[in-house]
Amino acid sequence: MAYITLNKTHFYNNLDIIARKTKTKDKIALVLKDNAYGHGLIEMATLASEYGITKTVVQTQAEAQQIAEYFESVLTLAVIPTAPHPKIRYTINELTSIEKFPKNTKVHLKVDTGMHRNGIAPDELRSAFEKIIAQGLILEAVFTHHRSADELSSEWFWQKQNFASLKEEAKALAQEFHLAPLLFHSCNSAALMRESDFDEDMARVGIAAYGCMDLPPPLDVEGFKPVLSVYAKRNSSRLVKKGQRVGYGGLFESDKEQIVSNYDFGYGDGFFRCLSEKYITPEGKKLLGRISMDNSSFVAEDEELLIFDNASDVAKIVGTISYEILTSLKPELQRVII
Ligand SMILES: *Cc1c(COP(=O)(O)O)cnc(C)c1O
Repeated sequence: MAYITLNKTHFYNNLDIIARKTKTKDKIALVLKDNAYGHGLIEMATLASEYGITKTVVQTQAEAQQIAEYFESVLTLAVIPTAPHPKIRYTINELTSIEKFPKNTKVHLKVDTGMHRNGIAPDELRSAFEKIIAQGLILEAVFTHHRSADELSSEWFWQKQNFASLKEEAKALAQEFHLAPLLFHSCNSAALMRESDFDEDMARVGIAAYGCMDLPPPLDVEGFKPVLSVYAKRNSSRLVKKGQRVGYGGLFESDKEQIVSNYDFGYGDGFFRCLSEKYITPEGKKLLGRISMDNSSFVAEDEELLIFDNASDVAKIVGTISYEILTSLKPELQRVII
């Protein structure tokens, strides 16, 4: 079966670059949502904890429970628990949800500084503090998310400024209500790389750790290496004659006699079907005809074929972002750490 390799040296190289920015490994909250961006949740949790990562971020309760043992704390982005898990922190995404959290839940309060996706409005901060205290929740952090940190615009500065004044307000409220000092976090990968002197309490880093961050040239950071590669195995080979057609719809017509092999990786595994007739592997093997659900044909004879080793390159051809290429890879594919 087609399989994925995870390059541990590349992963640790990326974490080294990130740790130089955060100044300590302890402030890296590795984002492991969506099966660790397609890399494999348990595999990446294991590698991260071996490296010394103590914090992680996921979307769901199921993900959090699977990896809690590897970390000191897990932040879930969209869970309202029935019974809070001692290691898990839960995000408050709107004011009206506060009353749904059980007493003693450790919460991170998300504030909307301009993305208008999730989080309370800035002018709801005092009201949120009052509700959190009335509900008996433990407020550990206040955080926000950037909408354009990976784009060359002034928006990052604007949201940063919005968050800076909210931090001051939150600190004053924490004092007024006799709360423990709050943690603050706002950076994803792109925002962290733009910081020249990072001074927050943690950074929520995903794509940079996986080595597939695409920033426009002036923001570009050297040295990140893709962790994930996809390999497919040969099902069969045949000599295709001039004029014969390959695959569904006979889309490709051979203009010469050539050996064509079929490999066990298709759109059912996460290969984008729109790459049909367009794709060439990093080793120069040309894809012929349409990609099927479980297989695709290449001008190749190799027993194992490298399909890709850099999701960003594939994303450019598809017209999407590396995140979508990676998270489309099915969990059933075997993950091998190399
Ligand atoms: C996914 C996500 C991140 C990580 O973003 P990257 O660009 O992959 O670093 C950080 N914070 C939140 C709220 C997210 O949803």
